[in-house]
Amino acid sequence: MNEIRTRFAPSPTGFMHIGNLRTALYAYLFAKKNNGKFILRIEDTDRERLIENAVDTIYNTLKLAGLQHDEGPDNGGDCGPYIQSERKAIYAEYAKKLIDSGDAYYCFCTKERLESLTDESGNRRYDKHCLHLSKAEIEEKLASGVPYVIRQNVPTEGVSAYNDLVFGEISVENRELHDNVLIKSDGYPTYNFANVVDDHLMRISHVIRGMEYLSSTPNYNLLYRAFGWEIPQYIHLPHIMRDKQHKLSKRYGDANFEDFLEKGFLPEAIINYVALLGWNPKNDREKFTLTELAEAFDVAGISKSAAVFDEVKLRWLNSQYIQEMPTEEFQKHALPYFENLPANIDKELLIKLLQPRISVFSDIPEKLAFITAFEDYDINLLEDKNSKTTLELAKTVLPEVIALSENAAVWENDALFEAYNALTEKLGVKRKQLLWLVRIALTGQASTPCGATEACVLLGKDEALRRLKYSLQRIS
Ligand code: GLU
Repeated sequence: MNEIRTRFAPSPTGFMHIGNLRTALYAYLFAKKNNGKFILRIEDTDRERLIENAVDTIYNTLKLAGLQHDEGPDNGGDCGPYIQSERKAIYAEYAKKLIDSGDAYYCFCTKERLESLTDESGNRRYDKHCLHLSKAEIEEKLASGVPYVIRQNVPTEGVSAYNDLVFGEISVENRELHDNVLIKSDGYPTYNFANVVDDHLMRISHVIRGMEYLSSTPNYNLLYRAFGWEIPQYIHLPHIMRDKQHKLSKRYGDANFEDFLEKGFLPEAIINYVALLGWNPKNDREKFTLTELAEAFDVAGISKSAAVFDEVKLRWLNSQYIQEMPTEEFQKHALPYFENLPANIDKELLIKLLQPRISVFSDIPEKLAFITAFEDYDINLLEDKNSKTTLELAKTVLPEVIALSENAAVWENDALFEAYNALTEKLGVKRKQLLWLVRIALTGQASTPCGATEACVLLGKDEALRRLKYSLQRIS
């Protein structure tokens, strides 16, 4: 069997759409699973949409995601150049071959004429007008520099069919196909041409890409046939949606890999989650490293139906990665969020408290809000229906807690816990009630990443006492 070769062929748009990341991932996994090669090709022939540094974004993203390509613009290979704008002469040469064989033709039609071909519903089909120009007419127009494009000459009869490894048999009436532009008036190829020439010359065995290309693939297959080239296997991937009706979108911050990195998700977790968007490992397993994915990946598990992106699930997966992280690594990620905390805060304890309690790193500021913002809290929080804790109870319990705390010889979690526990017996209140009051009086928040005594230790004795007194004063 020939070597398995897949490619990722992004257009440099400046960001990495989640759908494109999944395409890259599946192409990578399929190659790795089959001992093949994963190739990176930059598709930058749309010269009007070029964005500075966008190619660097592609390299950086693939690196972060761990998808190392075997061949590409930056690491070479025997099928280069791997940047389409550097392959202009190659496309021109192959377009000329198609013209000679009658599978393509020069088209000199003006914009106005093309626009006049648009029907009431806004659809436009080129009418092969220029196919019928005489050789002399063509020569003359070329010689006098009339702008032109080169179009594919698709048959007007018959059916084109192919087998997609995910979507099965796809069949199209040839009269539905368009005479696609292959070479534009600026001399650059369109995707519709370059993908065929490059996939062939780069010996791509399996073309993996989004399903938006399903319906134009018959056009491409006609080109392969015209050249007498072997047609690759196709693996088209279903769309990724936010819900049944809506695509992922930049507006909701769920379109791009970068959006999720910014929200504090880990690249490994994103990759793991994206792998499951449209691919089912056929068991209940959800957590996979990249290497494990490459072992488990199987085209038979790719679904035809749209995948729905579930950020809640991604959060869960991310929390799994966070919890399994070595403490030092967690600390590295968490420390930048500690910058504005008072110097005396016990950071080590904070790390211990946070690691099991956050799903993404950007949860940290909210969890720590009680440390920096305390004074204005709603005093009614001291009341708790569940444990029948009231403000009246607070008025008797808090002075006792303060007295005991002031005299505490060791300011440490277990000792404080024991002391407060003993106090509940003395006062005849429930432990739940006392700990609730202390925690709220110290933090001013219903939900905190720490219990009452942990809050004491975190804040330190002076600050803890100051807060207890402040809270008492507010209810007195
Ligand atoms: N440049 C195309 C895109 O970004 C690539 C499609 C393909 O994978 O063939 O959509």
